[in-house]
Amino acid sequence: MLADPTSPTSIVPPSGMALYIHVPFCKTKCPYCDFNTYQGIERMMDPYMGAVTQEITQWGRVLEGAAVNSVFFGGGTPSYLNEGSIDRILESARSSFQLKDGAEITIEANPGDLDLPACQRLISAGVNRLSIGVQSLDNELLSLLGRRHDADQAMAALATARSGGFSNINLDFMYGLPHQTMLQWQDTMQRMVSQHPDHISLYCLTLEEGTPLHRWVETGKLPQADQDLAADMYHYAADLMEQEGYQHYEISNWCLPGFECRHNLCYWLNQPYLGVGPGAHSSLGSYRFWDISSPGTYIASVNDWATKNPQPAIGLTEEVLNSVLPVDDQEHIDEDTFLAETMFLGLRLLEGMDLAEVSSRIGIDLGERYRSEIQDLTELGLLEQEGPLLRLTKPAHLIANQVFTRFVG
Ligand code: SF4
Repeated sequence: MLADPTSPTSIVPPSGMALYIHVPFCKTKCPYCDFNTYQGIERMMDPYMGAVTQEITQWGRVLEGAAVNSVFFGGGTPSYLNEGSIDRILESARSSFQLKDGAEITIEANPGDLDLPACQRLISAGVNRLSIGVQSLDNELLSLLGRRHDADQAMAALATARSGGFSNINLDFMYGLPHQTMLQWQDTMQRMVSQHPDHISLYCLTLEEGTPLHRWVETGKLPQADQDLAADMYHYAADLMEQEGYQHYEISNWCLPGFECRHNLCYWLNQPYLGVGPGAHSSLGSYRFWDISSPGTYIASVNDWATKNPQPAIGLTEEVLNSVLPVDDQEHIDEDTFLAETMFLGLRLLEGMDLAEVSSRIGIDLGERYRSEIQDLTELGLLEQEGPLLRLTKPAHLIANQVFTRFVG
């Protein structure tokens, strides 16, 4: 059954939670991006630092210094923050929570921000995983994407990160781009695997409404990407990485053995996480809630919260959440939603879900609950059972979201 969200111990188990820190600054805004991130608001960096560290301190009180297994600095461009910022945020996390020994601490970085001293500073702050937004090794595509680095800078950043001491590095790439050819993609993928990054994430471009790229495609300035070609690119990359010894452990993620992203595993296993910073989402107990998106309003609200309520109540109830001023809105999810989330997040992991193990952990027999959905999807060749594991079949990887709708509603 769902934990009763009234005390910190029922919200965050002794095994701990993940901590996400949203950084809303980018030096330049890429035309395809609809993340909650802004260019030209650097004047807010100092007030943001005060607010985000204050928010961490306040939450540390509410959750009584719960255990934290992983910290992820995402954005935005965390590597664009002023020198010393990451140290300061981590210090506040360490003094407010029980940051476990060996916790995975990831920072997303732009290749242009990674010189040797920057890498060494991050390592000495305790960051032990780097996620570099490379996106492509083709300069024309990088320029179309509005990225502020070129292919040489991306390759140099990887080499610098290695020599600076990082031994756990992810590279992000994008496919399904307007004008992108299979030859360009093959060249990018081959050069990428020759560098043996520890982890690789591939994202198919989605045209988000309201972005310049969406407008350019709508108005015919750019062609729509060919979706069949995008699927071929995904399969080409998957085959290449398999040959090179990478494990395809999640629909969009590959790693060398032992380099799964522990922070993201927490999301896929539907385990608790706290998000701080503008627009950051949290999942604690049966509550889903998110902070105010506007950086200015977020900063003012955290300051208000800390001033009006410097000793916030311990434990999480609707009433407590209503008093957390930077929280924009919340949902108290019911059992059906929790079970559906558990299914579709768990099935993103390609080794499969151990239904018996998960059922015993949450106290509900998922095999029984979803008997007819599992049977139908298996007959359609989209799910398969091997021993205790239920998983997506290969043909289902690219239509996983359609498969998951069977568990909702
Ligand atoms: S660097 Fe990343 S977060 Fe920033 S605008 Fe570009 S895609 Fe968005």
